[in-house]
Amino acid sequence: MLKIQPEAIMVAAQTQTTHKNFKGIEKTVFGRGSFSQLDEILAPRRGDNEGYFVFIVDNYFKGKPLEERVPVHAEDLTYYISVEEHEPTTEQIDQLRDEILAKKGLPSGVVGIGGGSIMDIAKALSLMLTNEGSSTLYQGLNLIKKPGVYHVGVPTISGTGAEVSMTAVLTGPVKKLGLKCEWTVFNQVVLDPELIASVPRNWWFYTGMDTYIHCVESENGRMNNAYSHAYAEQAMKLCREVYLGEQSGQTPENDDKLMVASLMGGLSLTYSEVGVCHALSYGLSKILGTRHCYANCLIMNHLEDYYPEGVAEFKQMVAYHQIDLPQGLANEWDDETITKMAHVSYNLPHMWLHAIGDNWQEVITIDVLKDLFRRL
Ligand code: NAD
Ligand code: ZN
Repeated sequence: MLKIQPEAIMVAAQTQTTHKNFKGIEKTVFGRGSFSQLDEILAPRRGDNEGYFVFIVDNYFKGKPLEERVPVHAEDLTYYISVEEHEPTTEQIDQLRDEILAKKGLPSGVVGIGGGSIMDIAKALSLMLTNEGSSTLYQGLNLIKKPGVYHVGVPTISGTGAEVSMTAVLTGPVKKLGLKCEWTVFNQVVLDPELIASVPRNWWFYTGMDTYIHCVESENGRMNNAYSHAYAEQAMKLCREVYLGEQSGQTPENDDKLMVASLMGGLSLTYSEVGVCHALSYGLSKILGTRHCYANCLIMNHLEDYYPEGVAEFKQMVAYHQIDLPQGLANEWDDETITKMAHVSYNLPHMWLHAIGDNWQEVITIDVLKDLFRRL
């Protein structure tokens, strides 16, 4: 009988965990005006489950022309949700799920129309409609037990890559962590660059920079490979066209490019990993509630020791668009706050392994992290 050496099993196990095997978005439509196809896209699914759709729409669009264009049928439920006050929470998802199931039972599907926050709400809701208990039980990798309902993402601001990623980031009582599994990925996305034209200039910058930072981090670490590199390289090229040089700014051509860059930056990450900026950003967001993309920008400004070229180019973009990134924030934070942030950041070993390497614990200590936070 063939005897398998323990080493061989270890190598096989390592191979399995080293090479990621991901499911992508099932269907993607891209183009100006493609939002008008949404009704037609949903039509074949309308018979599923209790035969109605749930629309989750960013409250920004309430009373705007887009409201009239959302293809809501009489039986559907629509929620206009404000994402101004906080990022999506586990409590918010649980409440929404309970309310929807109590009202009308299991829907045919969920459609999210908005930015990264709404994308995450739609993805998390789809999963939680079929998985029992609180969403806090499922924060992490592959903890979800059953596929969610059909879900569609319609991004209206570009940069986070939430439209393509396999995670739905939620802030819970204990952690800010995604529901991460194959079933999180959208069944369909509708990429209509016309929808991002109204994004205010500061958000256009912060959220777009999330893509740029995703690429810098994806490229600079040990998980980077030819596949993630190809996406990052292209996404960074598009970001340079959108944010640097004579043609830069919020134009229709650049909106097309930014929407694609966001998707490609997200794909690059899927096959690589984020790094120092995101690890720190999670600490800042968890402890002080600072918004993800804004937090990244505040931090990236001070990471020249880790990403010298990326930070130099980021600063060029900040200067070019005269974006005001406040300094001296840490003067207002006491040692306890900074220590808490440092601990949240430290507890993201997959990011540190990627960015720093096997010996990351020799390089990154709580004190090093506290010093980084003090630079802000
Ligand atoms: P957002 O959804 O938080 O929205 C930012 C602001 O832009 C809001 O005020 C919103 O109302 C407004 N807005 C959105 N579209 C608009 C439009 N077309 N016109 C005018 N205003 C508009 O923005 P975001 O930066 O895309 O998302 C951040 C969220 O994404 C965070 O919660 C973060 O945790 C999450 N995120 C998720 C992933 C993922 O892979 N799942 C990745 C990165 C970030
Ligand atoms: Zn990000």
